[in-house]
Amino acid sequence: MDQPVTPPDQQILKETDQCVLCGLCLPHCPTYHLTRNEAESPRGRISLMQALARGQLQADAELKGHLDRCLVCRSCERVCPSQVPYGKLIDEARALFAPGAAQSSSRSVPLQQLLDSVADKQGRLRQVAKGLRLYQRSGAQWLARQSGLLRGLKLDGLEQALPNVPEPLNLKSYYPPQGEKRADVALFTGCIGEMMDDGTLPSAIKLLNILGYGVQIPVSQGCCGSLHQHNGEPEQAKSLAHINVTAFNGLEVEAVIGTGSGCTAQLREYAARYGEENGFKVAVYDICDFLATIEWPEQICFRPLKQRIAIHEPCASRNLLNGMASVQKLLAMIPELVARPLANNNRCCGAAGSYMVTQPALADALRREKLSAITAASADAVVSTNIGCALHIQAGRPGLELHHPIALLLQQITSV
Ligand code: SF4
Ligand code: SF4
Repeated sequence: MDQPVTPPDQQILKETDQCVLCGLCLPHCPTYHLTRNEAESPRGRISLMQALARGQLQADAELKGHLDRCLVCRSCERVCPSQVPYGKLIDEARALFAPGAAQSSSRSVPLQQLLDSVADKQGRLRQVAKGLRLYQRSGAQWLARQSGLLRGLKLDGLEQALPNVPEPLNLKSYYPPQGEKRADVALFTGCIGEMMDDGTLPSAIKLLNILGYGVQIPVSQGCCGSLHQHNGEPEQAKSLAHINVTAFNGLEVEAVIGTGSGCTAQLREYAARYGEENGFKVAVYDICDFLATIEWPEQICFRPLKQRIAIHEPCASRNLLNGMASVQKLLAMIPELVARPLANNNRCCGAAGSYMVTQPALADALRREKLSAITAASADAVVSTNIGCALHIQAGRPGLELHHPIALLLQQITSV
């Protein structure tokens, strides 16, 4: 730390040079909205990265802090008239500070644990899930909370945000279609989603089966790699991408389908990020986009649901996938249900992958705004296509009814 970056990073320089400093991205940036500090805006961060790459600024903790506080929501990239590849830039700049890199800095223990666990989904992550279940059900959690130990270790906030870890899903490698087969598809199960959400994946499988799709689930698939990509470890992210394309590209399927918007967006960027050899041979879809594209058999009917549903739009969905249109189209099939987008859906809820762990104060401030929007919507329930957002929002309001849209769809199907 505290040395200029030498030699200047030509790639970063080239990309930052695309910025014309117009400032059109500023009103779309959640961290600028919260702080009103130019250094916490896209334009400010781009200038910092440029000065760093030119060797004009020290690679110190203050500069790193401004880069770390970026959510990588990519709202700025979406509105930029000069097409500055902001997402690529921030990943490249953060990689300069990763442990072992030129400007190496240490990483917080919870973040390092998270990265190491998700990278080893079949081994370490399963052990973590098992340990957490034991902790939550054996009385150890009660004891730790009562004793003040968690507060002493400054882990109380993180621990309270942890929902109950469900029993393992033990998914099979194939689920045959119900009735006449249309085709097979492959399901990407994610790591945190598979561990923390026992409703969405079974709903996805059941719904696809009802619609005539056989669902293949390759056991060797792993984490999508987005946490590593955005935390300065592109090589580890590339290795994870390679594991996944190897697992999926050998299958005879019509599409690869993901249920979590953040993971699905990362899968779709594999070829652009890590080269054609690390791309999928078939199209990758968010499940709502897939279900909104196909034809639904006429015999499928839905029970009415007299509820107001607020649609939360995750940043990955808004900025990298197809937004809320598919969710709205699918929910419109349920009679009497009124589904409306949340106000200020363009503002991140603060979950942002590992952000809720690394930047708890800002993540909490953004969540408070999201919870105010939910209150103002007077909705009976919220839907979200991102498990990270769902966990973060629910941790701020225990008891809030929050579903993946496909769980709601399946719940209301009456006849097939
Ligand atoms: S990143 Fe794009 S929108 Fe933002 S200041 Fe630069 S050119 Fe303008
Ligand atoms: S990615 Fe999001 S938080 Fe980061 S600079 Fe862009 S708009 Fe702001």
